[in-house]
Amino acid sequence: MATIQPIEARSVHQIQSGQVIIDLCSVAKELVENSLDAGATTIEIRFKNNGLDLIEVQDNGSGISPENYENVALKHYTSKLSSYDDLTRLHTFGFRGEALSSLCALSDFHVVTAKANQVPRANRLDFEPSGKLSKTQIVAGQKGTTASVEGIFKRLPVRRRELEKNIKREYGKVLNLLHAYACISAGVRFSVRNTVGKTKNVVVFSTNGNRTTKENIANVYGAKTLSALIPLELRLEFESSAVTRRAGDGGQINQMEVRGHISRPVFGEGRQTPDRQMFFVNSRPCGLPQIAKAFNEVYKSFNVSQSPFIFADFQMDTNAYDVNVSPDKRTILLHDAGALIESLKTSLAQLFEATDQTVPQSQV
Ligand code: ADP
Ligand code: MG
Repeated sequence: MATIQPIEARSVHQIQSGQVIIDLCSVAKELVENSLDAGATTIEIRFKNNGLDLIEVQDNGSGISPENYENVALKHYTSKLSSYDDLTRLHTFGFRGEALSSLCALSDFHVVTAKANQVPRANRLDFEPSGKLSKTQIVAGQKGTTASVEGIFKRLPVRRRELEKNIKREYGKVLNLLHAYACISAGVRFSVRNTVGKTKNVVVFSTNGNRTTKENIANVYGAKTLSALIPLELRLEFESSAVTRRAGDGGQINQMEVRGHISRPVFGEGRQTPDRQMFFVNSRPCGLPQIAKAFNEVYKSFNVSQSPFIFADFQMDTNAYDVNVSPDKRTILLHDAGALIESLKTSLAQLFEATDQTVPQSQV
């Protein structure tokens, strides 16, 4: 029988990194979340060749302190969490300390960073594939951090080829994801640029650092889309098996709020809004397929000719869900999903019934 022996550390790192950074979306997501966690109010995302050659995220956030340079890209090193107990109190996107270390394993990765007191000097940090700091160099720079990912998946040839083959579709998915972050992040100015061939640095979309998600949606999807939306403000209450809140009668009642915007349920033909559906839990963009299905079902009973534009942020107790299901944190496990969905359907139907369902004159 073959000897059982440990896989060498380098290979383990490579395997695990490919689970944290699955695709182009993961790269953009991890870097943008780091910028938001660092308190950035301006985030510029630059692509070269739709991200195949370069994905770069520049922010004006806190910057990284020199004493952290050695640790910044080491696996499971994070400034955001020190024990599992912290997880339920967490208000940052990141907590696993895996993104930067994974990007080191999968690409040519470097960072340029400066704290406010270092400007106009900044430090460029280069790393080995293991995440170990290999070189620091003083360069010119502004306050904040720029993270650059060149040649993503260069060490995973199969995945690289797959990405090259599907790059248009993958790039489209990244833009949709960035739309979601840009719309939900009130007070943060986003801009996305892409250079393909000779068309240099084309602005793909941008937001103005607006105070509201509504204005962000207008920036990203246009004023016409906005005028076809109604506010989504629901308060859901349902019996809960999870310990979240005790009602007066001793039963356990789960409460949450849904905030956002949704297409007005108008009768008649013609697409009023783009077919975009974005879901968030406590402002964290995530896929919620069961919830999406519920929205679409109820909407369909009011309007059969189009599916709605949905922007829905579920504000709930941090005990009511688990983000730590998969390394990429895209899957969120909702406790009491069944009861939640029933309550959502009832509230949505009430909202639509109370809404004027005739097409506004401005859109005829
Ligand atoms: P996590 O976000 O889970 O902590 P990451 O690997 O994404 O793990 O980042 C590691 C650490 O690097 C973070 O905890 C943070 O301290 C620092 N960091 C990463 N990106 C930035 C950034 N844009 N600005 C400031 N600090 C950053
Ligand atoms: Mg992170």
